[in-house]
Amino acid sequence: MPSVDIVYIVQRSVMKTEFRNYLTRKQSEEKEMEYKAFLIKYAEIGTKGKNRYVFEDTLCKQIKEHLKGLGEFAVRREYGRIFVEAESSYDYEDAVGELKKVFGIIGICPVVVEEQVEFETIKKKTIEYMKECYGEKTFTFKVNARRSNKKFPMQSMQINSEIGHYLLEEYPNLSVDVHHPDVLLNIEIREKVYLYSKTEKGAGGLPVGTNGKAMLLLSGGIDSPVAGYMISKRGVELEAVYFNAPPYTSERAKQKVMDLAAIVSGFSGNIKLHIVNFTDIQLAIYEKCPHEELTIIMRRYMMKIAQEIAKKNKCQALITGESIGQVASQTMHSLACTNEVCTLPVFRPCIGMDKQEIIDISEQIDTYETSILPYEDCCTIFVAKHPVTKPVLEIIKRSEEKLSDVIDDLLKEALDTVEVVNVCPAYTA
Ligand code: ATP
Ligand code: MG
Repeated sequence: MPSVDIVYIVQRSVMKTEFRNYLTRKQSEEKEMEYKAFLIKYAEIGTKGKNRYVFEDTLCKQIKEHLKGLGEFAVRREYGRIFVEAESSYDYEDAVGELKKVFGIIGICPVVVEEQVEFETIKKKTIEYMKECYGEKTFTFKVNARRSNKKFPMQSMQINSEIGHYLLEEYPNLSVDVHHPDVLLNIEIREKVYLYSKTEKGAGGLPVGTNGKAMLLLSGGIDSPVAGYMISKRGVELEAVYFNAPPYTSERAKQKVMDLAAIVSGFSGNIKLHIVNFTDIQLAIYEKCPHEELTIIMRRYMMKIAQEIAKKNKCQALITGESIGQVASQTMHSLACTNEVCTLPVFRPCIGMDKQEIIDISEQIDTYETSILPYEDCCTIFVAKHPVTKPVLEIIKRSEEKLSDVIDDLLKEALDTVEVVNVCPAYTA
């Protein structure tokens, strides 16, 4: 027989799980609840000392950008918080969906706003709010009042205890737990009253635009969109380059890359996508260089071209989706050979990740289904049967000399004929 304590803990944890499941169901049904505002929680941004206002301003700008087209919203910075207030009707799911894509936000609290700053009204509103949010459920709560409007006659502690008392009277199935409440009911008294108790998880990271710009080598695979997402999450703006090899690759392969860029841009903001015609360079390598070295030589030229375009467009780094040992061109030796042509830093955020870990992120950001569409990309066509896994830089350089009579013209031609597409987020709402 388990002891009484254990039975109690098990019962409580079952109750907590039931309550949490109930909240998830309720949140999706909860169209009737009128949330007029969102309180935006941000974390790391808060540690930026004197630069803090730059981060906050950028975050406000990003929030506005993401909510564009979903209604009228005012975004305000107040007492170290960001408030998003709806000034027109809007779709709750769409707005929260967009806010979840804004880097820099860790939590989104839907807020009920009461214009009348008066205790009786606050009390009534709180009682209604709890009923609408949580129904007749059994749970613990704690009231957390903050009074920044000092004209309001009651102090925070007094508000906490009186509202708590009314809630207990009104709903006998509730109880107070000041240490680990199931529901923390926040009441903020300013020039209006703000009620909130729920937090939707945000994307985290830092607001895009606070950390420069980088050039993503974007293929149609699984890894590079994830790599772009991860670097953008640290506040970095993205441009992208795709190496196209018509007629060996189809229009659909190119469209797939544009679709992937569009999904990533839902987080990072618009992406300037540079499409390079790589066919002639690939054919020259194929004709003149040893086949087991094809991929490594091709990757060196990709990096060189990407770097040129990056510099012209004021990008401070390159990003790839490489991961140690994933394929022959990503062994330590191969990566060292590829890297040798780069003077800009190369960020490889997937470098220590297993494929499954990369897939998990791609599913989370919604690029997976597009990435696995079966259109050929230029690397899969020109692959050698037995690629070198331990390339020696001097040997690779000697092989590249075989291209010396054509490569300068081919590189110039490739750079002169770049097609540029401005890719913006596909609002799938
Ligand atoms: P997969 O998910 O199948 O591994 P991948 O795009 O990662 O796809 P790799 O051959 O592993 O394919 O390429 C390593 C990295 O090189 C990619 O993550 C990407 O950054 C870059 N790359 C490869 N092919 C291209 C291309 N056609 N255009 C632009 N970048 C490319
Ligand atoms: Mg890969």
